[in-house]
Amino acid sequence: MTTSSLKGRVGIVTGGARGIGAAITSLLAADGATVIVMGLAPDRARTETLRASLNGAAKNIAFREGNVAHYEICKGVVEEVRVHYGQIDFLVNNAGITADHTVRNMTVEEWQAVLAVDLSGPFFMIKAVLEHMLERNYGRIVNISSVVGHTGNFGQAYYSSAKAGLMGLTKTVALETASRGITVNAVAPGFINTDMVAAMPKAAIEAAIQKSPERRLGQPEEVARVVRFLLDDSSGYITGAVYDVNGGLYM
Ligand code: NAP
Repeated sequence: MTTSSLKGRVGIVTGGARGIGAAITSLLAADGATVIVMGLAPDRARTETLRASLNGAAKNIAFREGNVAHYEICKGVVEEVRVHYGQIDFLVNNAGITADHTVRNMTVEEWQAVLAVDLSGPFFMIKAVLEHMLERNYGRIVNISSVVGHTGNFGQAYYSSAKAGLMGLTKTVALETASRGITVNAVAPGFINTDMVAAMPKAAIEAAIQKSPERRLGQPEEVARVVRFLLDDSSGYITGAVYDVNGGLYM
């Protein structure tokens, strides 16, 4: 029997069928929340695979296709979910992309593409969901930032800028909504064992492990558990915070 306050809650996890997002979706659904995975077309099949792996919690997971880089699409998905389920209690802005080049070598188009997904996307989703949360005097928003938003990272000017910007967005929306029962927090993972990290050169992964005081990659579930904690009703006095989940990589 679950005692989680998430039972019966409804929310959206962007990019919620892969990596950290899949771990978040699984934990929340197992707690009895209804999770709408919002993602690109390939996430539809991944959501089905996730549902199949979860047996009991499978019925709590649904999919809506949508690219977070476009405001009209975000607005459309949020509105459809609100009408279909009658409520949106939480939003997890998890979808993210990287494209690694030094500033000298990166193109303006790459800069715009990464910023569109990693920073404009969360802003669009928050803007789309905010009126509804304000009307209900309740909401939980968690933005997945990154340790490199604190530290910068060689070859990741666009990614680290977006993730630092996401911390600023988190704090500002937290300030603007704190009196209305809405909390807005960020989680900043270190290097986590997902496809995004697997795509890095082997030497870079090894260097990241050696730099980390715990000498290991994090697991997606270790991030997901912090997200679940922040979405819980009992976390209502926590807002505008950035939770580091990085094995001591940045303190
Ligand atoms: P991942 O395995 O690459 O998964 C990212 C998910 O986001 C995928 O499902 C992807 O769908 C989806 N997505 C990408 N662009 C999208 C868009 N425009 N609209 C909607 N969905 C989109 O990444 P991850 O490693 O789990 O990372 C999840 C989040 O944590 C990201 O924000 C990432 O920046 C952050 N993070 C990760 C790490 C790490 O070490 N892994 C560390 C710090 C922060 P497709 O696969 O179909 O493209």
